[in-house]
Amino acid sequence: MHRSGAQWVVQAPAKLNLFFEVLAKRDDGYPEIETLMCPITLYDTLYFREEPSGQVSLKCDWAFGASASDGNELDALPQGRDNLAVRAVALLRDRIGVRGGAALRLVKRIPVAAGLGGGSSDAAAALAIANHAWGLRLSQSELAEVAAQLGSDVPFFLAGGSAVCRGRGERVEPVTGAGAGSLHFVVVRPPCGLSTAVVYGACRPARQPQSVVPLLRALSQGNIDEVGRLLFNRLQPAAAELSPWIERLQNEFAREDFLGHGMSGSGTSYFGLCRHARQARRVANRIKANGACSVFAVRSYR
Ligand code: ATP
Repeated sequence: MHRSGAQWVVQAPAKLNLFFEVLAKRDDGYPEIETLMCPITLYDTLYFREEPSGQVSLKCDWAFGASASDGNELDALPQGRDNLAVRAVALLRDRIGVRGGAALRLVKRIPVAAGLGGGSSDAAAALAIANHAWGLRLSQSELAEVAAQLGSDVPFFLAGGSAVCRGRGERVEPVTGAGAGSLHFVVVRPPCGLSTAVVYGACRPARQPQSVVPLLRALSQGNIDEVGRLLFNRLQPAAAELSPWIERLQNEFAREDFLGHGMSGSGTSYFGLCRHARQARRVANRIKANGACSVFAVRSYR
């Protein structure tokens, strides 16, 4: 986060789920999950300017060339109160009783409804930036409480860095050591996204849940071949029933020399783990040349 004149600027990263298990449906209807997520070098940019009128407003646009949508409604960029960045700032203001307002500008690069957590990341960035700009001095745990009200992935983005998330996703346990930092990936978002709620609805919880522990061990040992073998997403079969793109991407990725590949979150983004940045760039260019629309060569970071 930095300040440029009267404006605060923060980069909001996307995430990948290297592991995703659905343990059970809880009494409140939410699924109990265990997931290992890492932030990646694909960012939205959020600008925050104090607004003396007390209003909270937003201007939200795609970065130049970033939207490859085929115009379906899931891909529409929510403006105003529907946008999670606005909801975050408004909720914080109401909870703390701040009088000031904010003029937000959000430049989107993270595809929407993609399993990359763009909306949640924007919300976490908005909380962090408002806390600074308004001089609220809320602690990390006070902000995390507000974050959990906005969405299950928001506390993860607020904490920063790779983490194992449990409960609805709001119980964040940072991965220490080298963890999932500095892994290289190719990420593809096909032209159609999927709604997280619909994918969860179609997913049957695990009878014999997989454990995240072997993956954590492989990460701490820096054994990326093993990391590739242990990528796992319980939601993938459900998403594949709902979108033909998952199987198409699975087949396309199987032809490449990835250490492992799989879907992120509730999809439809699909990613492959590469040995190094050069391989990620080379494969991303090849997949782009084959006509895929949103293709990114990215790196995870700590
Ligand atoms: P997750 O992996 O956390 O389930 P996702 O990557 O699949 O999320 P998002 O891009 O966060 O999905 O968008 C989910 C929905 O949230 C969108 O369909 C959109 O209507 C809404 N939304 C609200 N604010 C935003 C925002 N700032 N950016 C993207 N989507 C937003």
